[in-house]
Formats: sequence, structure tokens, C-alpha cells
Amino acid sequence: MSEADQSTVRVRDLTHFINGQHVAGTSGRFNDVYDPALGQLSGRVPVASAAEVDTAVAAAQAAFVTWSETPPLKRARLMFKFKELLESHLDEIAELITRDHGKLLSDAKGEVIRGIEIVEFAAGIPQLLKTDFTDQSSSGTDSWNLRQPVGVAAGVTPFNFPVVVPCWMFVMAAATGNTFILKPSERTPSASLRLAELFIEAGFPKGVFNVVHGDKSTVDALMQHPDVSAISAVASTPVAEYIYAESARHGKRVQALGSAKNHLVVMPDANLNQAVEAIINSAYGSAGERCMATSVVVAVGRVADELIERLTPRVRSLRIGGGLEPNLDMGPLISAAHRTKVTGYIESGIEAGAKLVVDGRGLAFPGHENGFFLGGTLFDNVTPDMRIYREEIFGPVLSIVRVPDLAAAIKLINAHELGNCVTLFTADGGAARAFTRQIQVGMVGINIPSPVPVAWHSFGGWKRSLFGDHHTYGQEAVRFYTRYKSVTQQWPETLEKGAEFAL
Ligand code: NAD
Repeated sequence: MSEADQSTVRVRDLTHFINGQHVAGTSGRFNDVYDPALGQLSGRVPVASAAEVDTAVAAAQAAFVTWSETPPLKRARLMFKFKELLESHLDEIAELITRDHGKLLSDAKGEVIRGIEIVEFAAGIPQLLKTDFTDQSSSGTDSWNLRQPVGVAAGVTPFNFPVVVPCWMFVMAAATGNTFILKPSERTPSASLRLAELFIEAGFPKGVFNVVHGDKSTVDALMQHPDVSAISAVASTPVAEYIYAESARHGKRVQALGSAKNHLVVMPDANLNQAVEAIINSAYGSAGERCMATSVVVAVGRVADELIERLTPRVRSLRIGGGLEPNLDMGPLISAAHRTKVTGYIESGIEAGAKLVVDGRGLAFPGHENGFFLGGTLFDNVTPDMRIYREEIFGPVLSIVRVPDLAAAIKLINAHELGNCVTLFTADGGAARAFTRQIQVGMVGINIPSPVPVAWHSFGGWKRSLFGDHHTYGQEAVRFYTRYKSVTQQWPETLEKGAEFAL
């Protein structure tokens, strides 16, 4: 796809997707959607009113009656069909992601593949829903448990993963017998509608998966709705905390994943070639707008100078452009407002006394004069009191903090209020083991750029990176989307009379 093709942006009016069909918004309220590489308006997405949310909930509730009774094996067969459709439409879905978000097409394809992996896991739902049984738990008595769907569940998703984060939710919710309403990000809404169309094409009944667009008011309507039983949200920490508290106040089961400030620790014995590759990829890939992005490198002991010497030319030579162009390292940021916020952090780092090694501001991006671009930025001598250390930046800005030893690195990371993921680069297995056990973070990598758990493990942070009791996908999602029921049974008359095998 050439830049010339990308420059012809058609402004589209998006719809909701309720009960198996596209439904135009009726509230009269819209949000603008932009192509971040061009800085041009590309669409308008409706904001669902409380009445529209009510229509979606009613459709989901009606579908729940038969869907929850559908045997898991039949649900699994539909998942296999959905997987085939995602595979055959992979390029198309990836392009929708790139046009809304700006990330590289290769990155977007990787995201869809991660979504497909969730569907593959969900296709094993008959096995995943098997429960425990105790024969003769007491005389003539058996005990077992059921995992039953919670009902209508809703999801609130962020702009940065418009396909895989919804897949964490609606795929696992549907596999476990629930029906679902997705409120996607208003900034990257397009791919969710294609997912909903393909879900219907795979044979899932109408109303099992619905999409309502909107903003805070729509999320409030979902949280306040008496017929919504569970809310899963992924958002920035203040929003996640609000959704957690507000949903709980309305009696919902809730999990809300929040912001990240991910550290990557480099020990003096680490393989520096591998560490540098990992840092470049995880700090600057997707313009730093991944929840698993490295934001802080903790350089232990004597490794700092050589690490910075190697990183500096790599950051300066990052290849940046429109996500549909080939052979690039990163695309633009999501919006002009977000770029202003990120450049504000660069200014605050300079004012606080950090050493600006590479400045990504003021670079020219020919052919993208109006795009939301920012170059890679690198700071040295960052200290824990600085805002660029404490707060999530969510942009291509990397901070180096120098510490004397591993114990100091662990203490630093454990003191941070966020704890999504962390990585250690070392050649010492004992150090790696101690780090893994002592670190107060939800996802840990050893010599791995970005420790995203595979679909049959589970994803989630600690501390203020996750509010709630369960991580997402994997077995944790099976628990979140089902209620545990304990059954104890005996048949006293049969006990007295003995079993009769003829009527
Ligand atoms: P955001 O918090 O602005 O919005 C996320 C979602 O919440 C959107 O659907 C939005 O419409 C809705 N929302 C916004 N304000 C709301 C409010 N006051 N009440 C109710 N709903 C509201 O986040 P974003 O900018 O779209 O996404 C980036 C953020 O998401 C980053 O902080 C990133 O770390 C986080 N994130 C976390 C993970 C994770 O796994 N922990 C994954 C991806 C993104």
C-alpha cells in the first residue's frame, strides 16, 4: 500500500452492531476518528445513549437464554469457524487497525494473530469447563461443582489494541456461555465492527456479541444497567479505578486493568546485543503505545555507559513513517493531543535535570506534515522523584535509571505504584530466580523483550495496574466469566430401598 493510496481518506459514518446487525446511532452525538499518519479526519463514531445501551442489553439478555444452554462442544465448533474467518481476513483486519491507530501493518498483523490464539484457546472450552467431582463425599452422597455463565457481560477497551483486547473479553465470555456488549475505544473503533460481522458469519447466534460505541456516558449506562452482570475494562489507571469502584457499587463482578510503567533491568553480565535489540523493540515499537512497552531501563553497575553508547545511534536512526509503508520501526502517535502530552513529559524531564541524550522533537516527516509523529527520545540520569519516572508517558520516550546492584533494582521497581510487566537481562540463573520471586509485578520476563503470556496462561498486572481479583484470558478468564456452584446430592429413598433397574 503506497502513501498515495493512504492519502485518500474517506470519512465514514460508523454504526453500532446490535442483535446481529449494523444500527445507526440515534443520540445525535459523535466522536471524530482520525488517520494518525495523515492527521486527517477519517470517520465519525456515534455515542450510544442510555436507551441504545438498553436495546443492546435486551438483545444480549434474550440471546443468553438459549446460548447459555448451548453445549460447550457446539460453542467450540463455532470458535473453530471464527478462527478460520479471522485467518482468511487477517490482512483486511490489520489494515483497519493501522488506519485507525497508526501502528505498523506488521504490528497490526501480529495483534490479530494474538487474537486468533485466544480463539484457539477458547475452542478447548469443553475441557476447560470440566469440574471436580467427589464420589461418596459422605454416605450415599456425592459432591461436585458447576461453572455457570454470569449472564450479560460488558467490555470497555483502550485505543492501543483494538482487536486483541476485545478478544480477551468477548471470545472468552462467549465460550463460557455468556453474551457480551463491547464498548470499544472511540479512537480506534473500526476493527470491532468487522469482528462482530465475522462472528455472525461464523454462525454465532444474533445478540451473543454486540458493539455499542461511545464514551464515559455509555460506560456509565452499562455499569448502571441492572441486567449487566460483569464488566471487564482495560484503560488508564484513573479510568480503570473509576470503573472498578462504580461497577462494584452497582453490584457487578468487575476486573479493570490499568496503566503501566514497565522496567527492563540490564545486569553487567547480560548479553548486550540481545538487551539492546529488546530495548529498541519494546521501548519504541508501536511508538511506545503498548501496555507492555519498556518505559524505564534500569542499568545495574558498570553496564550503563556501554548500554547508552549502543542505544544512542539506534534511537537516532529509528525509521518512522505511515504504518502502511514497509520497512519501518514505528508509526505516529494516536492523536495531536497525545503528542502534546508526550512532548510535555520531555520538557518536564529536561526541567527536572535528566540528561536528554536523544531528542525526538521537531523532526521532519516528509509526506506526513500533518501526521501525529514524534521521534524516539532517550534520557539518562533519570531519578525516581521525576515525573518522567513516576508517570506513564505512553510514547517513544525511554528513561535510564542507574543503580548499583540487583537489590537496588528490585527495591526501585517494587516501590513504583504500577506493576504491569518487568524484564531482567542476565546470564545468571540464580539472580533471575531471586528476581522472579521477589519482584512485585504481574508479568515477568527473563531475557525476553516483552513477556506477554501465551493464550493458555493469563495476562495482568499487580498494584495499580489491575483492580480486581482475576487476570484476563487463560484459565483466569474462565473463572471471571463463570460463577462457581457447589452441589451436594443424595437420593435417600434409593439408599433405603436399593436401586431398582426396572420400572
Ligand atoms: P483511556 O483510559 O482513555 O480509555 C479507555 C476506555 O475507557 C475507552 O473505551 C474510553 O472510552 C473509556 N473511558 C475513558 N474515560 C472514561 C471514564 N471517565 N469513565 C468510563 N470510561 C471511560 O485509555 P486509552 O488512552 O484508550 O488507552 C491507553 C491506556 O490503556 C494506557 O494507560 C495503557 O497503559 C492502558 N492499557 C492497559 C493495558 C493492560 O493490560 N493493563 C492494555 C492496554 C492499554
